[in-house]
Amino acid sequence: MSGKRLIVMKFGGTSVGSAERFRLCAEILRTAAEKDRIIVVVSAVAGVTDVILKTIEASRQGDAAMTDASLRKLELLHQALIAELFGDGHSHTVLSFVNQVLDQLRSSCRALLTLRSQISAETKDSLAALGERISAWVLANYLCQTGTSSEFVSAENVVVTDSNFGNAAPDMQATVERCQAVILPIVDRGAIPVVTGYCGANKAGQTTTLGRGGSDYSATIIGAAAAAHEVWIWTDVDGVLTADPRICPDAATLPEISFAEAIELAYYGAKVIHPKAAYPALDAGVAVWIKNSFQPHVGGTKITHSAAPFNSPVKAVTCVNHATLITLVTRRDVHSAELFGRLFLRLGQEQVDLLFATQSSPEHALGLVVRKEDTARVLHLIHNVFRIELAQGVVLPLAIQNDIAVIAVLGESMRGTCGILGRVFSAVAAQQVSVIAVAQGASELSICFAVASANAAEVVRAVHSEFCEGAEFAMGPASRPDLSLIAGV
Ligand code: ADP
Ligand code: ASP
Ligand code: MG
Repeated sequence: MSGKRLIVMKFGGTSVGSAERFRLCAEILRTAAEKDRIIVVVSAVAGVTDVILKTIEASRQGDAAMTDASLRKLELLHQALIAELFGDGHSHTVLSFVNQVLDQLRSSCRALLTLRSQISAETKDSLAALGERISAWVLANYLCQTGTSSEFVSAENVVVTDSNFGNAAPDMQATVERCQAVILPIVDRGAIPVVTGYCGANKAGQTTTLGRGGSDYSATIIGAAAAAHEVWIWTDVDGVLTADPRICPDAATLPEISFAEAIELAYYGAKVIHPKAAYPALDAGVAVWIKNSFQPHVGGTKITHSAAPFNSPVKAVTCVNHATLITLVTRRDVHSAELFGRLFLRLGQEQVDLLFATQSSPEHALGLVVRKEDTARVLHLIHNVFRIELAQGVVLPLAIQNDIAVIAVLGESMRGTCGILGRVFSAVAAQQVSVIAVAQGASELSICFAVASANAAEVVRAVHSEFCEGAEFAMGPASRPDLSLIAGV
């Protein structure tokens, strides 16, 4: 038993999006468990978290009809899934658990509708995480029914976090202790623990969530805490691609990328991995694979400390489609760096992540490019920090440009390579698109620039075609994962 590798396998929403998908997961796990010790982390069924959040929002706004319709949708979707997986005879116990979970959502929505109150961040997180509670329960039971020993595990008993509801960070030491106490004994009994993704709990036991798409982060937190050999993230594409396949259908799969590249890629819009998921794995030295649960025999992408170089300096082109440029200009007779410094301090204290910033000293101007969802918060903060300066005209009225997109061109081999910027902007100019703002990271790992959102897709395609089409991304067989265990799936 102890000679076997320990692997954390995370299944995303689309990988458990239907009864058919559950069957494939179970088959992947059954075969994998013959060879390795497995811990599973699972997301909610595709779309379920969105519906839960919409239901909460509808109740908060007093929309009873919409609340009922959404609750009904959740109920029907799960009922159909369970009926198909378990058949009428065996579905009763699974269904009664799911009904209990949905009752929790129902009664909270009823309270919101009646009281017309605001929902606390604590309550919102406890409801947002319910989708994972259901999918993990269904998967654990389905594995048992199909002969693979398995136990449901609530991440609230394992992943210890701070109290930053909606965007919690793990306490790794406490999580290591919980993994040893809760998860590893299940593995030692020869069963597969199926852990709810996306959530954890603070020290007081209140449910927290790790941010949207956070089940990837759950997987690497648990992988690091359990000292796993590898983390495999099963999704609906072949791995990390040179661009979002919805924008560039000819994007190629990257066999290997470094942790640094994965962090940048995710930060600048590649949804395939959560922006924070690389950190626990990087710290613990655990390799991460991204693989396609729809095509388990395909190699996937390995995220590792030092990825093999390719013949293209650019590995990927990514895009954040909805962003805002906020430009601050000060009067020329003041020391703008001191003012801007105060603002950066506050942005840091409030944990606002900028996409990028540009500064022009002669113009006394600072451009902040922020995600659309952060715009109102940043504007509020600027008005607070510079209340007096704005009133006295020391800081001029803000210029705000909405509907911009940030495109990032990424790759570690860009460092020290001449002519990349020239090629990027020639490709953009050929589309007759004007660039609104530009920044190159000091590490030379990425070049970011902003264009109008309406032009984003064509610019991504043009830059991708300039660098990534026809680039040789293939590598020798030595770097391939051992897929023999799932070759027959
Ligand atoms: P899951 O439900 O498995 O967590 P996600 O929807 O969160 O899956 O992430 C997978 C999706 O990420 C893909 O279907 C793809 O459309 C999108 N994506 C965006 N950029 C990239 C990229 N560079 N490589 C791979 N996928 C990407
Ligand atoms: N279900 C959560 C979400 O939709 C977490 C995840 O899928 O990773 O954000
Ligand atoms: Mg995801």
